[in-house]
Amino acid sequence: MKQTWLLLVALFAAVPASAQGKLNVITTTEDLAAIAREVGGDRITVEAMARGYQDPHFVEAKPSFILKLQKADVLVVVGRDLEIGWLPPLIQQSRNGKIQPGAEGYVDASQQAQILEVPTTQVTRAMGDVHRLGNPHCWMDPENGKRIGKEIADKFAQLRPGDRAVFTQRLADFSSRLDAAEKGWLAQLAPYKGTKVVTYHRSFPNFAERFGLDIIGYVEPKPGIPPSPQHTLDLQEEMKRQNVKLVLVEPYFDLKTPNAIGRATGAEVLVMPPSVGGVKEASDYLKLFDYDINLLVQAIKKVGAK
Ligand SMILES: [Zn+2]
Repeated sequence: MKQTWLLLVALFAAVPASAQGKLNVITTTEDLAAIAREVGGDRITVEAMARGYQDPHFVEAKPSFILKLQKADVLVVVGRDLEIGWLPPLIQQSRNGKIQPGAEGYVDASQQAQILEVPTTQVTRAMGDVHRLGNPHCWMDPENGKRIGKEIADKFAQLRPGDRAVFTQRLADFSSRLDAAEKGWLAQLAPYKGTKVVTYHRSFPNFAERFGLDIIGYVEPKPGIPPSPQHTLDLQEEMKRQNVKLVLVEPYFDLKTPNAIGRATGAEVLVMPPSVGGVKEASDYLKLFDYDINLLVQAIKKVGAK
């Protein structure tokens, strides 16, 4: 009897951490899935709910999302209320205790990220429908990409301590590849520092700050509020006054108003994805920046903007 017991103890001790199985990770966006894949490698399975060509504020909640959440060990969200319009009822309906907000398997990826546009006054509806806790589109700065990677890797290591070294190594590798790529991106855009642009939604403030663009206005009058004729006229006047020649539009917005603005001001309208999967070329986190920066540089050269 005693021998059997000892044998069992020996067997358990010999079971490697990987025998716990891969961590089943669900993310809200493809950006987070891409970063989770970088740091998790073959120790995880990962799937995003929203597609990169969808507006992450307003994702259609599908029943299949609840099934995925039921089986998840980890749920990674961008946070800052980005997903407030669609995610909370899904988490609740999944009845998965592991991934409820505050539970061990719930990761708020933007915890350590640099967040811009944090309101300093009392937040009211007059400020718009979204972004009440600051601008959530923080992944559009590779420096924040590294911070998000660390947040995710730390959680994986906490849940799979036997694989800690793997996650640490993969995070270091991701961060150093990102550092090298970022130097290249900065060099590509350096000649055009201060280029004035307009964007549809406030998806690019972190990107603009990192890479030296000057966003002078938005097609939306307020975050989450559709264009209005008066705002569009005011914006066109301001663009003419400041000689702005580029309008950046996220893939999920109607091009009607941006194209009208383009015709009125002579500006080029660029569809620029703020997410992995927004276009097929932006198939991982580094390729998203490759794509956007090439697109921008080509357009700036074409319009001669500065
Ligand atoms: Zn937003």
